[in-house]
Amino acid sequence: MEDLKIDENTDHYILTLKDYEQGLRAGKMLGLRCRNCGEIMCPPMPVCCGCGGKELEKTEMGGEGELMAFTITRVPPEGMDAPYIVCLVKLSEGPWVMGRLDHDPEKITPEMLGRKVKVSGAYAWSDKFSAGEHTCPVFKVIP
Ligand SMILES: [Zn+2]
Repeated sequence: MEDLKIDENTDHYILTLKDYEQGLRAGKMLGLRCRNCGEIMCPPMPVCCGCGGKELEKTEMGGEGELMAFTITRVPPEGMDAPYIVCLVKLSEGPWVMGRLDHDPEKITPEMLGRKVKVSGAYAWSDKFSAGEHTCPVFKVIP
């Protein structure tokens, strides 16, 4: 991620969604931290979600968090295989991110909500509903 762009006017990092997804494929969970209030945005946003500030800096998170919600997709969009689990994870650093859960869809139960999870990889797809290839994090429940 050494090739991140620097805004010439503010001397701050610019982290694009493309950079974020490239980081996921390289095993890194990247985001932006607000220099004003400390809020962390992941995936990256152009301004701080907490205060609207624009003074953001790149930060790397540990990839651990808590399983907050999930759903099983049994009827997939065209071009994707099912079943798979879409999950919402609250990262230890604060932000909530969406990804896939690497778990047997037939064995997941609501009692698993709140379990600790960790990034175990990245899932890339390209379908007719997306503007090009996209990547999301894949989480695995920590035993
Ligand atoms: Zn802020």
